Amino acid sequence: MSELEKKALKMIIEAGEKGLLQQDLWKRLNIDSRDGSRIALRLAKKKLITRELVTVRGRKTYRLIALVDKIPEEEKEEEKKGVSYERRLPRAPKLDVKVNLKLILTIPCTRCPYLKRCAPGQFYDPAKCPKLTAWLQHRVARLQQRRSASQAIQ
Ligand code: SF4
Repeated sequence: MSELEKKALKMIIEAGEKGLLQQDLWKRLNIDSRDGSRIALRLAKKKLITRELVTVRGRKTYRLIALVDKIPEEEKEEEKKGVSYERRLPRAPKLDVKVNLKLILTIPCTRCPYLKRCAPGQFYDPAKCPKLTAWLQHRVARLQQRRSASQAIQ
């Protein structure tokens, strides 16, 4: 690992769970954005960091989050001394999804007595289920009606 990569990784580790924006990394390293991007990519390929695509003030960038607590060389030295370290799991991406609970409760599977025995290739198979098929067809028809109605208004 190059000295610049080590320096970058150290900064990302120090940023903790909130991570460091890629644009801030290259500014702090005093390098240009292309080099900053290359370093981040190399660290991600080595599975030392994750890169989450984020939008900051209307511009797309990456949030860099460390997956390790230490720089690998330091890790090896400490392992020799018997010091253990932890590799963190990547943080789950934040999803901005609105869930319509009322709609979910209309899915026939939520009230089905065969739910536990239902699986692809089994006797009760979602791909062949008439109840689920009817529900999906009804949903598609409703969506098409809404789309036609909104197009008629425009
Ligand atoms: S797919 Fe059909 S059989 Fe399977 S759980 Fe849903 S409603 Fe029940």
